[in-house]
Amino acid sequence: MTDFSHNEMENKIITFGCRLNACESEIIYDFAKELGLEDITIINTCAVTAEAERKLRQTIRKLYNENNDIKIILTGCASELNPDSYIKMDGIVGIISNKMKLSKDEYACLKLDQITTSVVETESTLQAQLAYPSASSKAVNGSSVTLTETKSIGVSTYAANTETENGSTVTLALATYKGRVRGFLQVQNGCDQKCTYCVVRFTRGPSVSFPKDDIVSQTKKLLQRGYKEIVLTGVNVSSYGRSSGTGDTLSSLIRYMLKNVPDLRRLGLSSLDPADIDDELINVISGEERLLPHIHESIQAGDDMILKRMLRRHSAAQVVEINEKILSRRPEVVLGADMMVGFPTETDEMFENTKLLMEKAHISLLHSFPYSPRPGTPACGMPMVEKKIRLARAAELRKLSQGLLTKKMQEFIGKNVVILAESEYAAKTNSFLQVKSRKKLVAGSEYLFHCEDCEKKHIIGYPIEINEG
Ligand code: SF4
Repeated sequence: MTDFSHNEMENKIITFGCRLNACESEIIYDFAKELGLEDITIINTCAVTAEAERKLRQTIRKLYNENNDIKIILTGCASELNPDSYIKMDGIVGIISNKMKLSKDEYACLKLDQITTSVVETESTLQAQLAYPSASSKAVNGSSVTLTETKSIGVSTYAANTETENGSTVTLALATYKGRVRGFLQVQNGCDQKCTYCVVRFTRGPSVSFPKDDIVSQTKKLLQRGYKEIVLTGVNVSSYGRSSGTGDTLSSLIRYMLKNVPDLRRLGLSSLDPADIDDELINVISGEERLLPHIHESIQAGDDMILKRMLRRHSAAQVVEINEKILSRRPEVVLGADMMVGFPTETDEMFENTKLLMEKAHISLLHSFPYSPRPGTPACGMPMVEKKIRLARAAELRKLSQGLLTKKMQEFIGKNVVILAESEYAAKTNSFLQVKSRKKLVAGSEYLFHCEDCEKKHIIGYPIEINEG
């Protein structure tokens, strides 16, 4: 789970958490702008770690202390999980459920200053109440509504509504990113897995995949808006299609998109669950040149006993086998991973297995997180590893990852590679390595780039020519 930690859009939309939250916040930002919600601050929250919630509370207190008249609306996983504790905080005037966060109606109610009632009694909220599991909406007048779980999914009126196989309507998040370089396209929401440390499956509900024809039309819209690269995102994107009964998979979706959108030259993938990386997906990764050679995996641990206790569906040996298959077929692929250290019962020896796996699985880009107990999850009831040991292991893994990244970047020195410029001096290689240019670039342009050196997280060099591709 990539931590966007905290970004603000003109102090009105504050986002915590993952790419999917960042993607959705762009849409909320467009709503707020269109509806002229000047006096409302919306925070899109995250509950993936206790640290994420600590930062959220800190931010709410800071905003309130700076302005006692502030009106804050919360949405996202943290407020979904603990609405009762957040609604009591100073400055909070309402909570919008995760499922309704992309419903324009909810924000239109805010404009009409109907905060005290709208969140509880409008048509769409009623629909959400009837249709969406365990989200609660609460108004400042203290009345709260607890929702009962149902299977069908009813949602918003946002333009990208689509009809799913079981006849219900779902919203496809189409994000319009500033700087028009990389657009994230949500293709899936929710999750059917039961990882023992995870709260996301509680806050985002069961897995839902959006129809591939809608994804194709949204992709065309993003390209028409000038985006150069599209990244498919979701809560568990590699499970795309699995629960839909259509026989679609992430592999078939990628092939379908590349066939039906010939102008799509750069397609990227967000984090994949190793258990979903089958031979078909490896064929697509190694055979489709327009699919960018960067694969990020949510591996989480390198010890099989810990993986079992996490209820992850892969073993360390399987990850090594998958990555060696990928690299043998497409050597330019750069592999990244999410790793959680200090999971309950993890011994020094088990942690050593995690470090060993980084090398064996050819990981170059690493996000490492100390385990964070989440109340209500099975792992929270297991014997804890001391916090200082968790933090020390995370630091040790980060140090290791710097060494792995430097080794990978050194392979590029002296070579010419294609990059996509993100700003005047910053860019990324097709394999998602960060680049610093000695000469000015134009954001959104592709260049053939000469790699001269590397330092810390960046390859250093200069552009040779525009890449016509
Ligand atoms: S795959 Fe596991 S960690 Fe990821 S969202 Fe699903 S339950 Fe959570």
